[in-house]
Amino acid sequence: MIIAVASGKGGTGKTLVATSLALSLAGEHRVSFLDCDVEEPNGHVFLKPNLTGREAVTIPVPKVADDKCNYCGKCAQVCAYNAIAVLGDHVMTFPQLCHGCGACSYLCPKGAISEEPRETGVVEWGEADGISFAHGVLNVGEAMAPPVIRKVKEHGRDSEITVRDIPPGTSCPVVEAIKGCDFCLLVTEPTPFGLNDLALAVATVREMGIPCGVVLNRAGLGDTKTEAYCRREKIPILLTIPLDTEIARLYAGGTALVAGMPRWRDKFLKLFERIRELVDERGGNTQR
Ligand code: SF4
Ligand code: SF4
Repeated sequence: MIIAVASGKGGTGKTLVATSLALSLAGEHRVSFLDCDVEEPNGHVFLKPNLTGREAVTIPVPKVADDKCNYCGKCAQVCAYNAIAVLGDHVMTFPQLCHGCGACSYLCPKGAISEEPRETGVVEWGEADGISFAHGVLNVGEAMAPPVIRKVKEHGRDSEITVRDIPPGTSCPVVEAIKGCDFCLLVTEPTPFGLNDLALAVATVREMGIPCGVVLNRAGLGDTKTEAYCRREKIPILLTIPLDTEIARLYAGGTALVAGMPRWRDKFLKLFERIRELVDERGGNTQR
């Protein structure tokens, strides 16, 4: 069972939910926590893992041998990302734009393009309170998050339950991080901004064919339009977390909700049971 914990916008309490869900399940199952929010990973702040491994993530970028090139321009024509350009008798490469797809080297008629690795980030892993932990850290200024996310997703394969903390938003890194999940929990808050971004996130997961449910965080903060939207769209609200100073204090201090308020553990276990029922009703997701 792979559960994505996502949100249309940042700051809704996604990591609060993901870490407490993992901690609640860890006593009874083999659990992995994968922090795929590689631009701003913070699951480690709450889970405090003992990190034991580290691996650089690289993508292959083109290197052109001038003595073989005839400046035909085919590499520039095939590149969908404008990461290589032919200007007269010069070939310029822009490694920051390159997606490492290999098309230019494959199609170069002169065999003038070789590939060299460019580091985009690292993946670190270890263990936290019986939870198998991994997170990715994208290099500062780097735009290519999906390769780092893919490496993070290679971890936790022998777990019964994997909780993935997904980047906020609805862009490419989100799609890569959610891909292969059995269920997506969408964490939102009852405000106009929260509702707008929730609707975008729902459209994304529906397009991907992944069942979803909502966690309403900071309930009591805004209006009731989010509940009305969920009713209209037939999306179950699986957990409600109130606007509470004590919960905010725990979060600000880097303490997981179920660690600071153990009575929440039962609520997260019930949340998981409800997710399992919804996944069983759908027959599960077979893509990984
Ligand atoms: S496709 Fe190969 S030969 Fe043609 S311009 Fe690019 S590097 Fe040079
Ligand atoms: S590897 Fe792909 S993305 Fe990178 S320069 Fe070549 S064609 Fe463009």
